[in-house]
Formats: sequence, C-alpha cells, structure tokens
Amino acid sequence: MLEFSYLRIVQKVTEKYTYQRGLRFFLDGRVESGTKMILQNWQIFNVIGRKKVYTVKMPLLHLLLPVRDFQAGEKALEESVLCNCEYFEINGVCKHIVAVCAHLDKKFGIKKAKKIGDKSLINTFFEVEQKKKYKKWIEDFQYYIEAQGLQDESNVLSQTMESIVSEAFQNTTKYKEILNKLGQIAQDSLVDYQKEKRIANLISNKKFLLLANNSWWKFWKPIFGQMEEKNKLQILQKLWTIYINSPNQLSDLREDLIDINKKLNEKQKNEIIEYVAENSYLNKDENTLLQLALDISCKTYLEKKIELLDPIFLIKLVQIAPDYTEAIEIKLLNQVKLWSDFLQLGRYDEIVDVMKKWKSTLGWSEIFQEAEQYIRLSHKNKRKLIKLISKL
Ligand SMILES: [Zn+2]
Repeated sequence: MLEFSYLRIVQKVTEKYTYQRGLRFFLDGRVESGTKMILQNWQIFNVIGRKKVYTVKMPLLHLLLPVRDFQAGEKALEESVLCNCEYFEINGVCKHIVAVCAHLDKKFGIKKAKKIGDKSLINTFFEVEQKKKYKKWIEDFQYYIEAQGLQDESNVLSQTMESIVSEAFQNTTKYKEILNKLGQIAQDSLVDYQKEKRIANLISNKKFLLLANNSWWKFWKPIFGQMEEKNKLQILQKLWTIYINSPNQLSDLREDLIDINKKLNEKQKNEIIEYVAENSYLNKDENTLLQLALDISCKTYLEKKIELLDPIFLIKLVQIAPDYTEAIEIKLLNQVKLWSDFLQLGRYDEIVDVMKKWKSTLGWSEIFQEAEQYIRLSHKNKRKLIKLISKL
C-alpha cells in the first residue's frame, strides 16, 4: 500500500483554518473529477467555490516523486501546485488545493500513512463526520417522534428524516447498525399513545415511502405489527392510497398489504376502500376500487357493487372476480328478465348487446340459457328479439 498522503503533506503547509475549510469543500462534493493535462502526471481540477469555479493544477506527486523523496512532498507541492484564486496569489496553498488533496487521497486509495497510525487522515476525518451525522440522526429521529403538533412536511426535522431516508434507506445493509438503533427508538416509543400516533404518520408519509421505496415498509413492518388497531387501520388506508397511485414503485408493498388485510373485518375493509376512493387522485375509476375490494377480499363491498353495477360492468367484474361468477350471472339473469319485461317493441339493441357480451365472455352457461329461455317463453310477441338472441 502506498504510504504517500496528499492530505498529510498539505496539512503541513497550510493554516489549520484553511485546511479545515478545504476538507469541508471536499466533503461537500465541490471537487469535480480531474482531467489530464499535456504534462504527464499532472491533472487539472475544478473546485466549485462560493462565487465562482476555481481551477487547481495539481502534480500527481505520488507518481512523480521517487519513493525516497516522499518526505520532500511538502516542498514539491509548494513549488509546483497552482490555483487561480486570490488567496493563492498572496498566501500560497489554499483551501481549494486542500480539497483536491483530499480528493486524491480518496481516489488513489491511500490507506496507510505510517506517521499517523493505521488510518489515513481522510478516513479518520470521515469517521468523525459520520459519527456526528449519526448522532444528529438519532437525536432528530427521537425528537421527530416526540414532537407534538408538528407539521410533517414543513419543518427542519423532516430534512434530517429526508437525509436518513435518502442515505440509510437506500443501502440498508451498510446502514444496518444505525437503522437498528432507529428501529429500537420507534419500538420503545410505542408505549406512549401520542408517540405512536406520530410513528403512524411517519410510516404512512408519502414522501418518505416513495423515496425509500420497498425498504421503508420493510423497516416499519415489525413495528406496525405491535401497534393499536386504530393506528394500523389508518396506516393501511394511507398505504393503499399511496400504492394505488404509484403501483410500480411499491411492488413489494402490495403482497404484504394483501396479507395484512386478510385479517381485518368487513367494516375495516370497507373503511379502507372508502378512504382510497376519497383520497386517491389517480386511477380512481370503479375498476381500481373493485380490484382493491378483491385484493382485500371485501365481500360486502363486492356484493353491494353487484347490486348497483350495470350489466356490462358486471360482466367485466367476472373477469377479475371469477369466484363471483355465479352470483353475478344470477344478477344478470334477473336484470335481463326485468329488462325484457319492460322493453319497448323493437328497441332491442342494448339488451342484445349485453347478452352477446355475456355469452362471449362467460360462455353459454346454464344461467345464460335460462335467460334466453325466459325471453322465448315470456315474450313470444317479441319475435325479432328472440331471433336476434338465438343467433348469438
Ligand atoms: Zn485556491
């Protein structure tokens, strides 16, 4: 492993303040990856400053210096490196150069620098920064759960939540430890009614759910299982609504939701459908709600719909709900009977159309034949209708 560290060198030739600022610049991602210069082993870097973009011309000293001259690195750096900022012109090595040095240490994987122990400066710095960040995550997370009357979307805390979601939830393996801690905090908060309410809001937060996709629900699932029924139902209502508006993004969620919903009673299931109907802005058509009713096997909703649906929709319903074929066909039969009884002579298009769709979609079933026969026997005078139906 290379024992050369740009940061170690640059630290020796800069003021503490300049050095710290330079590291900050690097950590903020202000160094753009270098491009080659005509001179071999030189690179040019753009560093995004507060007012403008500065250019650092940097010799790749770990390649240019013979190993025996590594200890002369500071001198070599001071002699050769260039930045076009004002500070550099007057004082020499500036924060932009420090930032580039950090970038190079990271890029060339310089892990060992004998004089400072096992870790390079940049790694140590990273660890300290990371610990600080985790500490803030934990504090803010705890506060987020405790804070009452807090608006979910519009406060500083949700920024921390956002950074947790966009970092830790994108790589749950890497952030396992910290996520476990957050999970534990949530778990411990369940004893408190108000806190549990906050957690329920958090779980069903649309922004976080969509940002973290499937890992969000996976994280909350065990905690959800321990919550009060009322909160659970509220979460399910919101999750279904979000799912129905973005089904592709939340593919894993669906099966879990279906599973959980099976344990609910009819009243709760109906409440979910009602909530979705009122709150989802996309795909709010009858088909979607019927599909939802089927997914959560909400019998009362389906049966109620069978009463209200017109025949064409009933036929469509059989396609998504084959279990209901018989009930639907009986309903169709009754509708056709009633319909044909009040039908004006000659106005047969609609009823013929429905019977045609019925037969072609559901086949020549016994119930269909019964409808056919009813018309033939009870409406002998409607000869044209009988003829049309027999030709289907
Ligand atoms: Zn500079």
